[in-house]
Amino acid sequence: MRLHHVRVLGPGGLSMPQTVEVNAEGARDRDATGLVLSPGWMDLHAHLRDPGFPQKETLLSGATSAAVGGFTHVLAMANTDPVTDSPDRLQSLVARSEALPIRIGFVGAVTVGLEGQDLTDADALKAAGAVALSDDGRHAMTAIVLRHGLEAAAEAGLPVLIHAQAEDLGHGPDAEVAAVKDALDALRNLSGARLHIQHMSTRRAVELIRNAKAEGLPVTAEATPHHLALTDQDAWAMGPHGNVNPPLRSPDDRDALRHALVDGVIDVIATDHAPHERSAKEAGAYGFHGFETAVGVILGLGLDGRVVYRACVSRPREIVGQSLEDEWILIDPHEEWTVEASSFRSRGKNTPFQGRRLRGRVIMTVCRGQVVTERVLQHA
Ligand SMILES: [Zn+2]
Repeated sequence: MRLHHVRVLGPGGLSMPQTVEVNAEGARDRDATGLVLSPGWMDLHAHLRDPGFPQKETLLSGATSAAVGGFTHVLAMANTDPVTDSPDRLQSLVARSEALPIRIGFVGAVTVGLEGQDLTDADALKAAGAVALSDDGRHAMTAIVLRHGLEAAAEAGLPVLIHAQAEDLGHGPDAEVAAVKDALDALRNLSGARLHIQHMSTRRAVELIRNAKAEGLPVTAEATPHHLALTDQDAWAMGPHGNVNPPLRSPDDRDALRHALVDGVIDVIATDHAPHERSAKEAGAYGFHGFETAVGVILGLGLDGRVVYRACVSRPREIVGQSLEDEWILIDPHEEWTVEASSFRSRGKNTPFQGRRLRGRVIMTVCRGQVVTERVLQHA
């Protein structure tokens, strides 16, 4: 497919309009004036609920939703039922993922059943295809278990992704700060270990990461679109539909996240896509749909193109050692649209952005050289 007059998002930001040839079987050449071509985005943090919770999501509904949202590569967390804590479970997920429209990578659990007690076999999980280890969904590990988990993962050559929230301290800022401190302490003097802190939400935790990076510790960090865009004020208006873990924080915390994203203390944006059925949400379940609003929300932050490229394209792949393979998205950065969850391809309609106007939307997603989703332009 030849795109004419398209601007390309790359490491140096947005290019001038040019003609680009994209490997996309069967797609017609087009005038792409006003549009942006980006390598497919990678999401390091998603809950695809498969196996175990088909009322929330399946591999197929999650992969389709991610494709519509502009992600061509997504990491699925291990807190399924059963938990992805054994090589055979991991292998069967990898085998099933081959038929999906986009690339799904899998995370293996750090501890058996996410219980925080016995370590899984990191080498065997790696051999079965795991690209990282994480107990996300829980944080039941003591500092000692975490240190041993980091050690085992380091020997297997895998990064560990941490949901940094001390379970005994609830959901307040202190729980995040304590867990980040513990995790950084566990990382000290461990050769070869790599730690990635998921969904940072507080200014104090950001400062801990800033200092750890200055100290030279091998740590990376992510923030979600919702923590970057919303605050506790938004959550109060949503009742149980505003429940998310970590919670939406103060405007000061949100501003700290935005600054840290720009200056690189926060490496990547990851959605923490956490689909739930309506009844579960009304009963208080934690988590938001993330995929289909991500591009509009992230473009709405007004970031420089270089930051978007690093946070959504290059750093996520560097962190888990994955490369781009004929993955592209075509974005209309000017399209204004109203979020209507009922039209989501995901089974989870639990978005905090329902009814909001967003600017910027994905028109076409190409993965492995195939067009996997395409929307008809409404104002061409
Ligand atoms: Zn999560």
